[in-house]
Amino acid sequence: MSPARPLARDPAVARPVPLTLAERRPKNGRPPRHLADLDLAGRRAVLADLGEPPFRAVQLSRHYFGRYTQRPDEMSDLPRASRAALAGALLPPLLTAERELSCDGGTTRKTLWRGYDGALVESVLMRYPDRVTMCVSSQAGCGMACPFCATGQAGLTRNLSTAEIVAQVVAGARLLAAGEVPGGPGRVSNVVFMGMGEPLANYASVVTAVRRLTDPVPEGMGISQRSVTVSTVGLVPAIARLAAEDLSVTLAVSLHAPDDELRDTLVPVNRRWKVAEVLAAAWDYTAATGRRVSIEYALIRDVNDQAWRADALGSLLAGRLAHVNLIPLNPTPGSKWTASRPAAQREFVRRLTSHGVPVTVRDTRGREIDGACGQLAASARP
Ligand code: SAH
Repeated sequence: MSPARPLARDPAVARPVPLTLAERRPKNGRPPRHLADLDLAGRRAVLADLGEPPFRAVQLSRHYFGRYTQRPDEMSDLPRASRAALAGALLPPLLTAERELSCDGGTTRKTLWRGYDGALVESVLMRYPDRVTMCVSSQAGCGMACPFCATGQAGLTRNLSTAEIVAQVVAGARLLAAGEVPGGPGRVSNVVFMGMGEPLANYASVVTAVRRLTDPVPEGMGISQRSVTVSTVGLVPAIARLAAEDLSVTLAVSLHAPDDELRDTLVPVNRRWKVAEVLAAAWDYTAATGRRVSIEYALIRDVNDQAWRADALGSLLAGRLAHVNLIPLNPTPGSKWTASRPAAQREFVRRLTSHGVPVTVRDTRGREIDGACGQLAASARP
């Protein structure tokens, strides 16, 4: 071949050039299809269409959900000649790690991910002595506009696909399995939908992601449903739908105020579904699933931390299958609010306890790396 020959006339180039996987753009503005978007039957059907034996679906699924790899060169049980095509059909790259930050001696790690379209999301891995929790994002940004939350300030960019949600957990599992998180090789034991986004505003993708995470290998990743928590601002119809899914996941409700007057401002969607309606949906959830609901309450100094509000909250929750997770407010840029004084926090705990309501105070893991509750803003700047 003459080097002077114009590139476009080179027959090797004039043929439709397959874009590299990283450059491939979905036609319909959605992330590329990935095996985690499909159940095993769907994966088999895709492979059958490609003329591949359907049992390859199980092999690929085991690589992804059991060995946490999507690299063709790591799939030695597949014919060398078809590895790339198989991976290309069902394991396209979805999220690219843009930046990693860690603290707590490497046992807390926040990853900034870039999607196929440039959308940014974050996930956080937290290793404790007895468990590893992955905090995942369900949307790029969030449309719920809670004024104390950094994600809420940025607005919604888009929903994540099922596979984009699952990919965050698989990435953590891969790190752990490879022994790259201090503490020796390990597994993801818990998943909390408490990263960016309102999970129940991306209902279908989130519920399918829960199934993929919790179905056994090779259908899914084999994490226990009881170790998965879905957190919501209180989208009442979606809570009712979730209760009917026959899943044993924990529901967390971000309440933050016992009274509508204050909650209308802290969680703007409260103007649509009031405290009483949100809690009624939560109790229906406990009745349907037998699972204790977690009530999330960020303690904000002089805003929602008064003793009378603790009593009001205690009265609402007394005798219910609920426990309160108090979250000392984490700082976010531009917010004038700050965490409660220690004495106010102690009194809040004491009053809830005196109503017989179980209370825990959440740790502030990841604060130094803006990876704690409400701090995920996914900005690309270093
Ligand atoms: N949108 C869902 C999922 C996000 S979970 C939800 O709101 O439940 C993140 C949790 O952290 C929520 O309970 C949220 O209210 C809380 N949070 C947000 N900003 C915070 C902040 N600055 N400090 C402490 N907690 C915060």
